[in-house]
Amino acid sequence: MTQREILRALPFWQRALRLEDWRIEARTAPAREMSHNGDECEGLCFIHQEEMFAEILLRRGATEETLVHEMLHVVFEGDSGLRAYDALYERGLNRVAQALIGLRSSSPIP
Ligand SMILES: [Zn+2]
Repeated sequence: MTQREILRALPFWQRALRLEDWRIEARTAPAREMSHNGDECEGLCFIHQEEMFAEILLRRGATEETLVHEMLHVVFEGDSGLRAYDALYERGLNRVAQALIGLRSSSPIP
């Protein structure tokens, strides 16, 4: 996604995922910023629970599915303070993100 596409998609997904009470910023980031515990990743989500603020970084060329995946981290972890990054959980988020993108494809963002 380009930065422009991100800014267009973000409010749509914020509404769809009922995250309107959160302040969410998302931007593309250079590859050097895109690692977590030494692993390279497509997207990162930094949640500041008390401020209800989340910052999402997407690797250049990341898909909208990655944006939705990172936003799902806010859905599941934002209020609980839980930080879970195991492989099964990540796979589950991928499946939900894929399903949502699939559902959305019949009614694209205007
Ligand atoms: Zn994830």
